[in-house]
Amino acid sequence: MNEGVIMVVSGPAGSGKGTVCKMLYASGDFCPSVSRTTRDPRPGEVDGVDYSFVSREEFLRLLAEGDFLEYNSYCGQFYGTPKSAAERIIASGKNLLLEIDVNGAKQVKEKCPNAVLVMLLPPSFAEQERRLRYRGTETEELIQKRLEQTREELKSLSVYDYIVYNPTGETERALENIRAIAAAERCSLDRRASAAEDYFANKN
Ligand code: 5GP
Repeated sequence: MNEGVIMVVSGPAGSGKGTVCKMLYASGDFCPSVSRTTRDPRPGEVDGVDYSFVSREEFLRLLAEGDFLEYNSYCGQFYGTPKSAAERIIASGKNLLLEIDVNGAKQVKEKCPNAVLVMLLPPSFAEQERRLRYRGTETEELIQKRLEQTREELKSLSVYDYIVYNPTGETERALENIRAIAAAERCSLDRRASAAEDYFANKN
């Protein structure tokens, strides 16, 4: 069976990452991962759908067992991507899409060297700044903070395998590129060490 790909998509504010990932999930070509968190559910949130809500003790136990592809803490609560669920998804032949930041992406690559890291970018820094201002949802201070964060994050660009640009009005092309990356990676001999064996065993 041709395994699915673990694909990480990162992108700075204004890259269109949220929209692109939503469209990839909706197309059925990529599965999302349900993160585990120690925070309490908010009204309307469903356990196992929005998050898998676990106690601090449970989270730390799973962490000690190595069952996180990556994790982080925000406001005193832990959040992480479960490894066992990710492995189940790719073993079933589906692609897993993780929408996470540079720090999380590095952790995933360490645990799963076969994971494919994609950085989604606006066509230029000037265009990113224009989009953030045009959106009008953030204060000048926050816009500056996000731009500074982009400078910091892009210092780690070399850990990524691919860059996909997302010019305004060309979302479809960005989607096509991401799908093409996943398709090419699935054919990569690196991840198909047993390809000849499988072929002779009629296992495909
Ligand atoms: P919230 O509590 O608002 O749902 O999420 C707080 C923060 O945790 C957000 O920035 C969200 O992106 C991040 N987050 C959610 N799930 C995960 C995860 O599995 N891993 C990491 N590293 N961050 C996550």
